Amino acid sequence: MASSAGDRLAVIKRHLVCHKRCRLQHETPEGSAVGNCSDEAVRKGRQHKGVGWQPVASRPPTPTAPTVPRRRQELLKWNGWGYKDSKFVVHKEKDYCIAFTGERYKIGNLVLPHFADWVKNTLGVKFDDCSPPQPPPEPQAYPEPIVEQEFLDEVQTLGITHSLDGEDRLFRAHGHTLAEIFTLREGMFPRIPDLVVWPKNHSEVEKLVDLASRSQVALIPFGGGTSVSGALLCPEEESRMIVSLDTSQMCRILWLDEKNLTARIEAGIIGQDLERQLQVRGYTTGHEPDSYEFSSLGGWVATRASGMKKNIYGNIEDLLVQVKVATPRGTVERYTAGPRVSAGPDVHHFILGSEGTLGVITEVTMKVRPIPVVKHYGSIAFPDFSSGVNCMREVAFHRCQPASIRLMDNEQFKFGHALKPPTDLMGLLTDGIKKMYITRIRGFDLNTMCVATLLFEGSEQDVALQEKRLYSIALNNGGIPAGEANGERGYMLTFVIAYIRDLGFDYGIVAESFETSVPWDRVYALCHNVKHRIKSECKERGIKHTFVTCRVTQTYDAGACVYFYFAFNYRGLSDPVHVYEEIEGNARNEILGCGGSISHHHGIGKVRRQWMSQTFSEPSLGAIKAVKQYFDPENIFANGNLL
Ligand SMILES: Cc1cc2nc3c(=O)[nH]c(=O)nc-3n(C[C@H](O)[C@H](O)[C@H](O)COP(=O)(O)OP(=O)(O)OC[C@H]3O[C@@H](n4cnc5c(N)ncnc54)[C@H](O)[C@@H]3O)c2cc1C
Repeated sequence: MASSAGDRLAVIKRHLVCHKRCRLQHETPEGSAVGNCSDEAVRKGRQHKGVGWQPVASRPPTPTAPTVPRRRQELLKWNGWGYKDSKFVVHKEKDYCIAFTGERYKIGNLVLPHFADWVKNTLGVKFDDCSPPQPPPEPQAYPEPIVEQEFLDEVQTLGITHSLDGEDRLFRAHGHTLAEIFTLREGMFPRIPDLVVWPKNHSEVEKLVDLASRSQVALIPFGGGTSVSGALLCPEEESRMIVSLDTSQMCRILWLDEKNLTARIEAGIIGQDLERQLQVRGYTTGHEPDSYEFSSLGGWVATRASGMKKNIYGNIEDLLVQVKVATPRGTVERYTAGPRVSAGPDVHHFILGSEGTLGVITEVTMKVRPIPVVKHYGSIAFPDFSSGVNCMREVAFHRCQPASIRLMDNEQFKFGHALKPPTDLMGLLTDGIKKMYITRIRGFDLNTMCVATLLFEGSEQDVALQEKRLYSIALNNGGIPAGEANGERGYMLTFVIAYIRDLGFDYGIVAESFETSVPWDRVYALCHNVKHRIKSECKERGIKHTFVTCRVTQTYDAGACVYFYFAFNYRGLSDPVHVYEEIEGNARNEILGCGGSISHHHGIGKVRRQWMSQTFSEPSLGAIKAVKQYFDPENIFANGNLL
């Protein structure tokens, strides 16, 4: 993974030397730099496509196999989140202690001594009342595939890898909403893809799209399968054959242009593979959504994803330089790689957030950066949530956000504590002293205080400056530095928290997260009102044990992104998913009422379609429909998302 500081310095040095050499070799008499690092490269680089420019790879790409195999079931759970070997388990023999298995995460193979008490007290869990999931379906349990023989024959003739196997189809029938995972545990989807195809490159995708149009077959692009908007669900009423077009075999970095700091990448690559391959060469995209271990580049573009380090690197729309999309109308792309183009509305913005409704994103040119020399974690404790929000606002006002800054409310702060592994005597002492300092000396109340986690990236000097500014703003808002270890743990837990829901299901707990963006002057009120609304909705339905919490995860000049987590004990309820959806629906109405948006980064899919008319005026929705009608008049991309 990440190289050492020495390696990174060497890369940056090489980058600067190369840059200088390029300028020296190719500066024209007028002083403007042209071409690439060698004459040969300049000659090869002038390959016109339309009016475009194809840069030359400074080093040949190294092909590597994708981490997630084509048969996803070999590595991933069929009915839950993530790797098969990584999960929370309850050790009955050790007084119902909870532990996390596997070696992939730092929390792995550790018993979490406080977690069991937390789930018992907060969510009323009874460990002797376990409801395990159903076993994997028998072959005859999968819905019979609808087969369009002409399409299947031609796929065979073209030599495109494909499968009619029930498991393969089921793995691509869903994303990771509560309702989807609950269905896997308890039942079966009424409709799943009839066939899965794995094209290897843009040309194969073009052929498949053309063939689907000719044979009247519906296509659903599949990236990493981490959607949380119902975007991958097959519409029940679709009577045509549904083909899941799995992009995972399109996973090469086609070229890396070290001079312009861009890379051309096939869209099926998943985040961890992309970063690993770039980091070996000394670069990073810096795009790190919490799902980046499994989500794909094409999926990020299709959903307008946001990564935790967007403050430095930008969201996906800031990182994208060019994109290539195979649609029934033909290939959509902008030929020029200019960093900004004033040429009418940006066609890229039809594609960003199109959620698989227009075509298949096959290749993306993305910005890359040299790996930062320094990476520091940090954390700040605040006496209460409003001081924390004020601090976040001031940091954004002065535009001095570090790579990531996230503010957790008191409930989440306590939850983080419940996930702490055992500490040795020294750790206990240090924790005791810290607790005494925070509560007795600073007068913080453990039931109101909250914590922000920080991640700084950059040069030694930049990071030192960022830390100084940030901690001084925190002090102005009543915050005190709470250490690097707390910050690092916070970010590590980001990846592990997604595994908790599967444990909850076993003990009658349903859980989900949802998010929004909101102007600064409404952040605090929105957080307060939405949490209050969820709790009163639960009370009305007789739900006694709930966990409702939020965090501010992204900051902008004009507002912030707020993320809610919500769990409740559903014992005694006959249809917990329906109850959950009703409550989340009312929470979403509350969000919109408080000035929040329909979504900051999860997208619309099918679960948020009903709020589109409150988000856009009728003519705006008409324009979105017209774009769909133009690119895909026969609704080949028939996943039914957005509208
Ligand atoms: C635990 C967890 C954490 C998450 N954290 C974040 C986060 O921090 N930030 C964030 O933005 N999102 C987050 N998400 C949501 C999700 O990861 C994103 O929406 C992600 O961008 C989806 O990418 P994917 O490759 O998994 O797409 P998929 O789930 O496979 O597909 C999503 C949609 O995109 C379409 N699609 C996929 N690939 C293509 C393609 N090549 N061409 C055209 N359409 C395509 C699909 O048809 C579908 O409509 C999280 C989800 C989970 C479960």
